[in-house]
Amino acid sequence: MIDSFGRSIDYLRISVTDRCNLRCVYCMPPEGVEWMAHDEMLSYEETIRLCRLFAQTGVKKVRLTGGEPLARKGLPALVSGIHAIPGIESIALTTNGLLLREQLPALLEGGLSAVNVSLDTLDRDQYAAITRRDGLDETLAGLRAALAVPGLRVKLNCVPMGDNDVQLVPLAELARDADLSVRFIELMPIGLGGQLPRRTEAEVRAILERSFGPMVPCGDVIGAGPGHYFTVPGFRGRIGFISAMTHQFCDGCNRVRLTATGFLKTCLQYETGRDLRALLRSGAEDGTVLAAIEDAIRRKPAQHHFNESAGQSADETHNMNQIGG
Ligand code: SAM
Ligand code: SF4
Repeated sequence: MIDSFGRSIDYLRISVTDRCNLRCVYCMPPEGVEWMAHDEMLSYEETIRLCRLFAQTGVKKVRLTGGEPLARKGLPALVSGIHAIPGIESIALTTNGLLLREQLPALLEGGLSAVNVSLDTLDRDQYAAITRRDGLDETLAGLRAALAVPGLRVKLNCVPMGDNDVQLVPLAELARDADLSVRFIELMPIGLGGQLPRRTEAEVRAILERSFGPMVPCGDVIGAGPGHYFTVPGFRGRIGFISAMTHQFCDGCNRVRLTATGFLKTCLQYETGRDLRALLRSGAEDGTVLAAIEDAIRRKPAQHHFNESAGQSADETHNMNQIGG
């Protein structure tokens, strides 16, 4: 459907859990967080019911995220349930990759069409410093397994910070021989992300161009999101940027988010939205839930204000593991 600023909303990101097997410095405190109780999370049946209603509003693309989505049991069953919904054209997954290799066959059987693997560095010590765990081999194994699947769209997500500059070039080089989009995502001041040194798109681009020469903007539209892409001479894949801080893309925003607790979140920055779990569990009929979804989408805020002083009363105070990125 079209929101009140004329944007067509056809993309739903679903966080299926707040739990994670890593503790990335920009996302979770070292001691972890108190996990939500299992019955606070939407069941797969509830999630599939909501997806069917979202599809009726015009949502065509779904992404599963978290926390770590593969840490929730039986995710392939959710993928196949969503895949069966008329109108849903693609189901993607954002994962840290640790459990990807073993779960990939079942996910593909369920109808998964794309996967984004988050990996900030190829250096073992730096990986451990950023994620506070030792999982580089598993993440790389997951990435390689995904790249070996014909037709599966694969992207790599890196959040560059002040101290991993030297690793940006080796990461980008993964796109030399593989049909892979390596994307650099500007750190957003959400939760713990507000306290860390960030790198802008311009800074990262300058570092890459010193090694690879000028990058050429890519004409093709790739994926459903706000990334913009460049080709590099001699590379099979491409380099992308998602730059919420320096290239605000709210005008073209096509997405809403469903948290693991069933809260429909209509802008990443704000806590505004609608508690759909309460509605579902109150016994509301489909028509009532659908009307609530449409009403929330209509009220989607015009834009984020990350670059202005923080602390507006409706600002997001949760960490990214609870929102899903
Ligand atoms: N655990 C999965 C993963 O890491 O891919 C999915 C959830 S994670 C919250 C989704 C994405 O959000 C990851 O690519 C992560 O790097 C990114 N992310 C987390 N905190 C962020 C922040 N403050 N700013 C920008 N991206 C962030
Ligand atoms: Fe876990 Fe992803 Fe957050 Fe890292 S970014 S702690 S992998 S949810």
